[in-house]
Amino acid sequence: ALPKLPATDAAAKALAYTENAAAVKHAAFKAGSSCTNCNFFKGAKGQAYGPCTLFPKNTVAAKGWCSAWAKKL
Ligand code: SF4
Repeated sequence: ALPKLPATDAAAKALAYTENAAAVKHAAFKAGSSCTNCNFFKGAKGQAYGPCTLFPKNTVAAKGWCSAWAKKL
């Protein structure tokens, strides 16, 4: 399995990635958004961590968020 994306990762920092969408104060944050309902999240439903197209070497938290969030189509 891929390792979890550390918030300290340079690319993660650039996109303001966090494992806790509930605590996000970012200007681009839309209420209710998180990795689990992001179009780039490829994790299975109910999975706590899953792959993200933007971070191919890691998994991201289903309850996480970053500024590249886009509504799941
Ligand atoms: Fe989460 Fe989407 Fe950002 Fe990937 S692109 S870290 S799934 S919010």
